[in-house]
Amino acid sequence: MTNIAFIGLGNMGGPMAANLLKSGMQVTVFDLVEASVNALVEQGAKAATSAVDAVADAEVVVTMLPAAAHVKSLYLGDNGIIEASRDDVLFIDSSTIDADSARVVGKAVEQAGRLFVDAPVSGGVAGAKAGTLTFIMGGSVDGVAKATPVLQCMGKNLFHAGDTGAGQIAKICNNMLLAVLMSGTSEALQLAIDNGLDPKVMSDIMLQSSGCNWTLQKYNPCPGVMEDVPSSNDYQGGFMVKLMNKDLNLAMNAAANSESSTPMAAAAQGLYKLHQRNGNGDKDFSSIFTLFAKD
Ligand code: NAD
Repeated sequence: MTNIAFIGLGNMGGPMAANLLKSGMQVTVFDLVEASVNALVEQGAKAATSAVDAVADAEVVVTMLPAAAHVKSLYLGDNGIIEASRDDVLFIDSSTIDADSARVVGKAVEQAGRLFVDAPVSGGVAGAKAGTLTFIMGGSVDGVAKATPVLQCMGKNLFHAGDTGAGQIAKICNNMLLAVLMSGTSEALQLAIDNGLDPKVMSDIMLQSSGCNWTLQKYNPCPGVMEDVPSSNDYQGGFMVKLMNKDLNLAMNAAANSESSTPMAAAAQGLYKLHQRNGNGDKDFSSIFTLFAKD
């Protein structure tokens, strides 16, 4: 039984840690929100009083935090978790952050003689709950080999994209496309509605036509078309608009660095920024549909 520390028990981390428990792992958990820790303790986890306390005996540490600032502060700040960990530990950071920050953290971990893998995920909260996430890893062959059996408890598809930071690059490319697809699907559905079509019928047509994409298959943005998705729950839960904006910023910064042309993502970023300014930062990202809807 592997002894795992899991830090960051939010929309994604909570169900991911629960799947580790279901696979028979021994899991010690920590989050700044006590209720999130308690929810995992009810499922069999051990509560830690701090991040440093959580990692003390762990063979593998998984972190799932909002953004790079949180990750850097946890690993590199005062009372950082690197020094507090075992010599033979593997750190897996599954947060979505910029590749440079992942490399800085990875280097600090490796300089301390430990292993580090960046392993951001795709698949959303539903994938986290079902244990069907896609993990995109960046790091050494040794790190990836040690991470694989742990990540298989939480995911279905595992990829090794390249060296440290490569997982993050692959992840932001994917999410950049997702923002474009969600915006485009929303405007197509609203155009259909404005011209008298039923959005469910329109969705069924596109699902069997060349416009078919993941947002129609798994995450329809129009309320009432699909059950058990955020659009049918007042856009609560899921992947917050402010996190999509974070990812779009990461993608656009990466594009600026590599002088890549990303005009579709620039349009989607403009829409998501406006949507957040209108007070929708904490809603699920499929709520971009409401930007196109008539009052
Ligand atoms: P979230 O805000 O729901 O959860 C983050 C958790 O981290 C919170 O519970 C917070 O209290 C905790 N936290 C922050 N700083 C901490 C610290 N120092 N110590 C302990 N806990 C701390 O976010 P989320 O939706 O779970 O997303 C987490 C990461 O996964 C983000 O980087 C996001 O971009 C990425 N992601 C999210 C989704 C999604 O659908 N929600 C999908 C793929 C990737």
